[in-house]
Amino acid sequence: MTQENMVTQNTSSYLPLAKVQAQIDHAAKIAGRDASDITLIAVSKTKPVAEIMPLMTADHHVFGENRVQEADDKWPPLKLQNSALDLHLVGQLQSNKAEDAVRLFSHIHSVDRASLITALARAQDKLGCQPRCFLQVNIGNEDQKGGCSVDQISVLLKAAQDAGVHITGLMAVPPHDREPAPYFALLAKLARDNGLAHLSMGMSADIETAIMCGATHVRVGTALFGAR
Ligand SMILES: *Cc1c(COP(=O)(O)O)cnc(C)c1O
Repeated sequence: MTQENMVTQNTSSYLPLAKVQAQIDHAAKIAGRDASDITLIAVSKTKPVAEIMPLMTADHHVFGENRVQEADDKWPPLKLQNSALDLHLVGQLQSNKAEDAVRLFSHIHSVDRASLITALARAQDKLGCQPRCFLQVNIGNEDQKGGCSVDQISVLLKAAQDAGVHITGLMAVPPHDREPAPYFALLAKLARDNGLAHLSMGMSADIETAIMCGATHVRVGTALFGAR
């Protein structure tokens, strides 16, 4: 590898990525955690490939999308070029898109109902692969927000286990006009109570708070790509 190549491979060559990584490192250090236990998902929804390339060039491979259709239009050619790419679905999933989602994504963060678990199980059987999933919890009990209620968690975990859908953690988006820490702390407690190792929480505005509350996966769009 030439000297120039080494420079472009360095994460610091894309400043927004270096800044977010520094935030993650800083929060992990304060929390006494290992920063390598925290996965940064670069949420590239609405962003064209040209704006995604600088992150890939800087050796970042984990990306998130919130719509199956948009992801299907954007990512398959890039996946062929880069086998290290790791795609996460962070937005709501309709059961009739479950098969497309299982084909494209390694992780699905929005499992929140029994009918979707059934559809995912069927898609997994058909395609012979098993994405890792998060159970999404409507942690602030808000109307019109994705996620199951807190009291549905154990029933849905049991349904997923019976169906062979692998739930590895909990995911939530706290109410946007509130201090997020209490919601993150509640989600962490619920994961602990249910023996789940992973927590998908924290976005551009609250990355550090989420990490201090135990996030293992942060979903960051604006801080990496600018406003949508
Ligand atoms: C868009 C989105 C994000 C990223 O939000 P930013 O505030 O832009 O960092 C994270 N999680 C979900 C579920 C999203 O839809």
